[in-house]
Parts: sequence; C-alpha cells; structure tokens
Amino acid sequence: MNETSQNGKDRELLTIRHMRKAFGDNQVLKDISLSVRNGEIVSVIGPSGSGKSTLLRCATMLETMDGGSLGYSGVWACEAVDGQGGDAVYASQAQLQKIHRSFGLVFQNFNLFPHYSVLKNVMDAPVRVLKQDREQAKQEALKLLEQFGLADKADAYPCELSGGQQQRVSVARALALKPEILFLDEPTSALDPELTADVLNVLKQLAAQHMTMVIVTHELEFAREVSDRIIFVENGEIVEQGTPEQLFASDKQRVQEFIGKLS
Ligand code: ADP
Ligand code: MG
Repeated sequence: MNETSQNGKDRELLTIRHMRKAFGDNQVLKDISLSVRNGEIVSVIGPSGSGKSTLLRCATMLETMDGGSLGYSGVWACEAVDGQGGDAVYASQAQLQKIHRSFGLVFQNFNLFPHYSVLKNVMDAPVRVLKQDREQAKQEALKLLEQFGLADKADAYPCELSGGQQQRVSVARALALKPEILFLDEPTSALDPELTADVLNVLKQLAAQHMTMVIVTHELEFAREVSDRIIFVENGEIVEQGTPEQLFASDKQRVQEFIGKLS
C-alpha cells in the first residue's frame, strides 16, 4: 500500500479487494471490493441471505475468506497470492492480533456477558486485553455509559435491561477498546420499534463525532440520514453503491424493488 496516502485525514482504514467466500458449493461472496476512509459511514443493505453478515464476518476475521485481500490502515491481514482474487494468505498470528485492535463489532443479539454487570461488560476488555489501568478503564466506561444514557445502569445485569439498553451497552463495550472502525450487523433488527430509535440515536451521536462505521441495516431512513455511502449487496456481489441520493435514485430495478419493499 502507498504509505504516504495513509497518513492524511482521509486515509484508508479498511481495504477489501476481490473478497471471495464459499460454504461448500454455496459461493456466498463472489468478488467484493470495498474501501472505507477515516470518518466515513458506510451502510450495507440488501436482501436476506445475500452475504452481508458473511462480508462483515470475513472483514472482522470471524470467518476466513477464501480469496482476495483484506487490509487495515495499510497493513494486510491477508493478501491474495496474485494480488487479485486468488487464494488468500493470512499474516502471522501476531500481526492478526495487532490488526484485531483496529476494529470493533456489534452484533444483532447484543452478546453481552450475562454474569457481568453492565460496567464490567464495558471495562473488562480494556483491562484484560489492553492492560489498561483499572481505575482509568472504569472512568472511561462510566463516561461512555453516561453518553449513552445508561449511567444509572452501571451496576445492573444485562437481564435487567431492555433490548435497546443492552444494545447500547454493546456499542459502549465495543467503543471502550477505542477501535478505529466499528462494524455493526443489523444492530436494531432484534428490537421493538420504540427501542430501535434509542439505539439509532446513539449511532447518530457517533456519526456526528465522525466515528468510522460500517453498518448492515434495514433501516433505510437512518441509512439515508447518516451514511456517506450506501452499498447494495445481492447474491454476494455489490450491485450498486453511491451516496444516499445516488443509491435511492438508482436505475437498477432490483435496487428500486428492494427499497420499495422496505419503505
Ligand atoms: P445476510 O446477512 O445477507 O442475510 P449471510 O451472510 O448470513 O446473509 O448468509 C449468506 C449465505 O451464506 C446464506 O445462504 C447462508 O445460508 C450462508 N451461510 C452463512 N453462514 C454460513 C455458515 N457458517 N455455514 C454455511 N452456510 C452459511
Ligand atoms: Mg445477516
């Protein structure tokens, strides 16, 4: 990668080139190329089963990709043997561990530790993984909880919270590790509509602070409001992408049908 272009404010945080992934005979990701710059908010939309979660899971190394390249801030997690869509060769474990610290991930179903308090859920990884000073981690966790309207829930357990509150804790937990880029996979789809708004408001706050985010979502109005770019995925391919205005004005019938169904 070009080192000089990595230092600016618009430096590329995420680089995906020709990503391929199959499960058995099912070619789920065909040839996905995508780059995300510092401060950009990219929404990923598309029908169920089109490969959106697989894309996020490969990008965050929860799944290994078969072919193509994946890089964070100019450091390759894996590189295709031919620099194109050829077989992906992963970097050393030590390198991958370092890269892991550049991103955070929020799932649809919150995935909080049920036997930890809210505060411990948020401060645990900074203390254990980043070896942050416990008191400092606690203060930072409390600040995040306060920002997300959860200050009075620090000592509660996840089961005592609503789904919307749990999801806000998940976002706080991911942010506690100070990722450069935050991935969210349908963060509101397990929530009732009235709780969805609370989580979307938290994400809007982060957007206003220029947090770099890649968000898989079915909330088209939200995507239209916060995204710099929207990507439409179908059958494991990026069928259309552009600014919200461009995407919503797409002349592709499949895109319009999809938007029509959700609006
Ligand atoms: P989306 O998130 O867009 O709904 P997914 O990425 O979850 O789509 O799934 C895309 C396709 O990959 C589906 O056909 C799904 O059945 C398949 N798939 C996803 N994960 C696995 C897996 N671990 N094993 C086998 N097939 C999978
Ligand atoms: Mg999914």
